[in-house]
Order: sequence, then structure tokens, then C-alpha cells
Amino acid sequence: MNQAVLILIKPDGLKKSLTGNILTRLSETKLEIVAAKIARVSKELAEEHYKHLKDKPFFGEIIKYLQGELHDRKKVMALVYWGEDAIKKCRELAGATNPEEAESTSIRGSYGRITTSGVYENVIHVSSNEFEAEREIKLWFAPGEIIVDLYSTKDLVQKEIAIKVWD
Ligand code: UDP
Ligand code: MG
Repeated sequence: MNQAVLILIKPDGLKKSLTGNILTRLSETKLEIVAAKIARVSKELAEEHYKHLKDKPFFGEIIKYLQGELHDRKKVMALVYWGEDAIKKCRELAGATNPEEAESTSIRGSYGRITTSGVYENVIHVSSNEFEAEREIKLWFAPGEIIVDLYSTKDLVQKEIAIKVWD
């Protein structure tokens, strides 16, 4: 079954110059990249992304982590991969949430670490199921930024909206 999955290369992945390595590993899946961008992460976006974890003691730390405040890299790389069993394939390559428990050959096992304050800096986010993938993809991307029609859309006419264009 074809699925879409949101991948984030987190700020530690960018700081450690792992983008190329991670994309190479993900290319083993033979999935198709249907959207990609570098994105700034506001507190609101980070909190919405991790809202299912808001009661956890580490919530404040992972919000700062995703925003890049722990790595002086205030950005993430966001991608949507699409294809057969995309979620399972990408989560397998990513490895377990705890980088110490992740298989040593997985992305998190290879490049992740646990900080002294206990945060799992695991370099990559992968949606955990189809429901979460849809929620997350709609949070990070507008329909026009994705080159296939994943979810239903509607037309909205907006008037007198200022947009930036090249000078
Ligand atoms: N996390 C953490 N400590 C924990 C659990 C999670 O630092 O005990 C962080 C880790 O960076 C993880 C993120 O919070 O990737 C989101 O947690 P989730 O349970 O959704 O794990 P994932 O789906 O990323 O494997
Ligand atoms: Mg998760």
C-alpha cells in the first residue's frame, strides 16, 4: 500500500552535516521524495508537532531541541517520502527512539546520542503511523509544496494579501 511519511532532519543532523548521509540511507528505500524544504521552527509549530507528548517531563526540552536552540541551528530539513510501506521502511532505517537502543547500523544508532540532561538527540523524525503522517504533513507543508495530490484540498479565494516577490 502506498503511503506518505514526514521526515525531519533535526537541528543536530544539520549541525553534524549529516544531511547527505541521511538522504543516502533513505534512498535505499527506493521511495519517492515528493516535497522538501528547509524550515524555521516556531515554538507554536514545534509544540503542535509534539502535542501528543505535552504531558511528558521532557516536553520543554524537545521543543527547544526541534527549534534548534540546543544546536545553534534554527532550522530543520522537512521531506515527504511516498511509496509502498513508506512508514515502516523509514522507521526501520531510522531505528529506535532511544539511540542507545537503536540498532547500531540504523540512522539513530549511527548518529544519535543522549545528552547529559537525558534528551534523545536522534537526528531524524519519522511519522509513526498513517494518521500521524497526515497530521504532520499538513502541519509542515501547504498543498502546493507537494508534487502529488496526497489529501483532499479546497479552493480559497484570498483578497489583498501581501506576499513577497522578487524585486
Ligand atoms: N524523546 C526523548 N526522550 C524520551 C522520549 C522521546 O528525548 O524518553 C524525544 C526524542 O527526540 C524523540 C522525540 O522526543 O524522537 C519524540 O518522541 P516519540 O515518542 O514520538 O519518538 P519517535 O516517534 O521520534 O521515535
Ligand atoms: Mg513520534
